[in-house]
Amino acid sequence: MSIQKLSSVIATIYENFPKGRFITLVVLRTTHSETIFRTEGSGEPMCSEFVQAGLEGENQKTIIQRLVMTKRKQVAPERRYGREHLRAHELLYTNIKDGSLCSLNTNAPCEMCTDCFLYGFAAGGGGAQKSRIWTEDAFSILPASDVVGDRTINAIYETGTMRDEKGNPSTALNTSEYIKPGVHFLDVVTLKDVTADELRYIIGNILFTSRYGAVSSRVGRMENQILGVFGSITELPSSLELVQATYDVLGKPLEHPLNINQLITASKQVIANWQNKRGVSVHLSEAEVTNLLTDVETNWSEAERDNFLKRLSQSYEPFRQVATEKKKAKAKGKNTLVEVES
Ligand SMILES: [Zn+2]
Repeated sequence: MSIQKLSSVIATIYENFPKGRFITLVVLRTTHSETIFRTEGSGEPMCSEFVQAGLEGENQKTIIQRLVMTKRKQVAPERRYGREHLRAHELLYTNIKDGSLCSLNTNAPCEMCTDCFLYGFAAGGGGAQKSRIWTEDAFSILPASDVVGDRTINAIYETGTMRDEKGNPSTALNTSEYIKPGVHFLDVVTLKDVTADELRYIIGNILFTSRYGAVSSRVGRMENQILGVFGSITELPSSLELVQATYDVLGKPLEHPLNINQLITASKQVIANWQNKRGVSVHLSEAEVTNLLTDVETNWSEAERDNFLKRLSQSYEPFRQVATEKKKAKAKGKNTLVEVES
């Protein structure tokens, strides 16, 4: 039922041309174990940015360093989650280039599966699909200094200090930074011109992905909650604005770990004001969000999943044929260069 309430901003069928329909998901991401978000490799510090603490009063003048969960760190595991199921239900296609099954981060996406149509692809041989899932960096509520821990791996001298008997500091010291459990990131995910089934697929990927960042069996556990769903004709305030406005609402002083219920109340208070903002036409009530999530869970359930994923995959069928014809036509002409999206 709640999906129907979004009908003005939901595409009835997949189309190649955008029509300015935006659905915004407000996502709260909470770490449930040590988590590591680094740019590349080990030894790098956690991703963070200096930003205004809040948007009002003293908060607006205070600069703090916030942890950042980058776009890539959010989308990559969520795509992989969906693709595991596409693979299990045999809905990934082989690409024409080398006949291998569609896979991420290769130069040969199949251009035909649900993931390719939704999250986009750029192929070297011509043809590209822009992602219709717009993410942005998510920021921690609290400053990095409060929510990052250090683990010293080795190299404390026998004296129990980090200096040798001559007073020189230890050089063999190896510390590893991690994000503590119970750290909250607020995030705005914008979906553009998606159908009802595409919306179910994306929300499922967000809700059911449970490991992020540099992951092992012990680290990277994270839980995602959808706090709000909006329909509009443009993008809503950014993740950063949401975090800053929520920070303003939360009582001070703030300490890690934050009370999650207070945080949720504060965030909901902030997004309630979005109703009158930037072309918002639909704001799902709490009960409607719950209904929507139940609808998503039903479609992803053991009983419905095969049916749901196949129906979604089938919806692209007319466009697969068009794409193949186009390719044949292009193959006769010269190759077109395509901008590659990372
Ligand atoms: Zn594909």
